[in-house]
Amino acid sequence: MANIVAIVGRPNVGKSTLFNRLTESRKAIVDDFSGVTRDRHYEVAEWIGKKFTVIDTGGFVYGSDDVFEEAIREQVHIAIEEASVILFMVDVTTGITDLDDEIADLLRRTPKPVYVVANKVDHAKRTHESAEFYAFGLGEVYNVSSITGSGTGELLDDVVSHF
Ligand code: GDP
Ligand code: MG
Repeated sequence: MANIVAIVGRPNVGKSTLFNRLTESRKAIVDDFSGVTRDRHYEVAEWIGKKFTVIDTGGFVYGSDDVFEEAIREQVHIAIEEASVILFMVDVTTGITDLDDEIADLLRRTPKPVYVVANKVDHAKRTHESAEFYAFGLGEVYNVSSITGSGTGELLDDVVSHF
């Protein structure tokens, strides 16, 4: 069975930034040697010798700045159908929004593993602020900074334990 990790979350939480970080070395290789046009929303990544495909689901449904409930639903359905592991990304600098709650409601219905990823924890002091995300009832909150890479190793260690 394919190892697929889908990143879901409302716009601007940092999904694409994490996607690019996780797939960056692979992209460089593909760009250098094949010249093949890549699908920006699916890329292969590797961690401790385990290969998996990462999906940046936001790109499927956000054609404009308008985000409808239906688009959120579709994004999460894609993840639930296609992924083996789901990363639910939220933003520590904004805290929980109505859209976050909407997505959390949908994700609570899947038996697949869901990881709550609190992004933009760029400084240690923000670690405490992410505690509010435990309210989703989706288990452990992983603090990461997709920009600096902080915390992404701990997250990936647990994610690839499913592969
Ligand atoms: P997406 O809409 O969920 O794909 O979010 P993007 O990846 O496009 O990021 C939205 C904005 O958040 C951009 O301005 C990013 O530079 C910023 N961003 C992403 N990750 C981080 C992070 O770890 N820390 C901070 N401070 N900003 C971030
Ligand atoms: Mg994006």
